[in-house]
Amino acid sequence: MKFKRLKRQLFTRWAVLCFAALCMIMIHPEPAPGFTNSEYRRFQAGIINYQNRLNKKFRKIRRKQTRYIIVHTSELGLKATLRVVSRGKQFKSGFRTPGGHANYVIARNGRVYRIMNKAFRADHAGRSMWNRQKDISSVSLGIELVGYHYAPLTDRQYRSAAMLIDILQKVYNLSDLAVLTHSQIAYGLPNPWFRKDHRGRKRCAKNFDRARAGLGPTWSHDPDVRAGLLMPDPQLDSLFYKKSGSVRILAQASNLISKENSAWSIAGEDYDSQTTVYILPGGKALPGDRVKKIIGWSHLPVNTRVLLNQDTGEKQASVPDLPVKIISTSMTAWSHAGQAYKEKTTVYFLPSGKTRSGAQISDWDDLPIKTRLIIGYQGPHKITKDRTAYRIAGSAYKSEKTVYHFPSGRVTTGNKVKDFSQLPRGTEIYLPL
Ligand SMILES: [Zn+2]
Repeated sequence: MKFKRLKRQLFTRWAVLCFAALCMIMIHPEPAPGFTNSEYRRFQAGIINYQNRLNKKFRKIRRKQTRYIIVHTSELGLKATLRVVSRGKQFKSGFRTPGGHANYVIARNGRVYRIMNKAFRADHAGRSMWNRQKDISSVSLGIELVGYHYAPLTDRQYRSAAMLIDILQKVYNLSDLAVLTHSQIAYGLPNPWFRKDHRGRKRCAKNFDRARAGLGPTWSHDPDVRAGLLMPDPQLDSLFYKKSGSVRILAQASNLISKENSAWSIAGEDYDSQTTVYILPGGKALPGDRVKKIIGWSHLPVNTRVLLNQDTGEKQASVPDLPVKIISTSMTAWSHAGQAYKEKTTVYFLPSGKTRSGAQISDWDDLPIKTRLIIGYQGPHKITKDRTAYRIAGSAYKSEKTVYHFPSGRVTTGNKVKDFSQLPRGTEIYLPL
């Protein structure tokens, strides 16, 4: 009898516990799908504190309100991104912004940097408006993804973005609708293309794939365009609010000028800036502020490569039409090689002396400054006693396109080799495809 009652009591207690647990699960479906609590803890502990690098001239002000999370692409490599968002953007005129241009930076390898406390107002959105509200920097957090708006972001960046955004959404009680890209919220004043205020000033993060960052519902339309306050930018409008957008994004995921991809649709308001450099098909480089005078905007040849932010406090990349290119803080593998950066036929000569093909490199952020690269080459062909440069390259052995890699690490072209009879043993030749 006693035993039976005990059994019943135990069963009731067990049922109550189960019911309670079920309720807990239904009310608190945490952690968010895909991530465990320990993953969140590890993620937060792994954020790199970069706050002491902030420009002292930057004034820290607490936001009174947080309504949005704005996603950017930095259009620079990691080092230059960290420098610009922390220290400020340097202009040729000598003017320098006081920095503080993001709350967080997410590197290509997924590493997250805290530029300033999430409570502070970062100066990241510039002239902006969403749903009739202007100055979005005052009511939002800014996240910079290291990369380009015309190139894919990495899986590890999406994973970190998903966690970071999820955490911030919980802190500030924000829905997925509150997560927008800079290209969605920036607007510009009238210019030769638009007679009224308009969208399209920034193209930043237009390649941001919400689903890959774990984000659901978004805006079906641009509220300020619908209200007649702004003119739409045709390209961004079809990308964000028309069903055909995802198809078009592929066609425009390029920094090469074409019929569909104008200087405006690649560079936005920076199209005529000194820091936007146009590399013409022959290799000649032209800064944006000289295009109008020298070529004219309607005469830019197809396949001209557009490079943004080419003046970030260091010397302009020198003569870019030479076959041997050099990685610097403003010229990443991507800005030299475009989509070809990870091809087998793109060869990297690391400062350590090692040689790697694009297929062997996982990310350009891992490539040290001063790495040299050649694009569209086959090789190496080793020079031996019996295999001379002439045997390998034929009459092209002294061409400016034939690349020599010396055991000392030096990389040069055939036209610069003084004495072919003195080539050191182990010299390698690369031939253009
Ligand atoms: Zn931006």
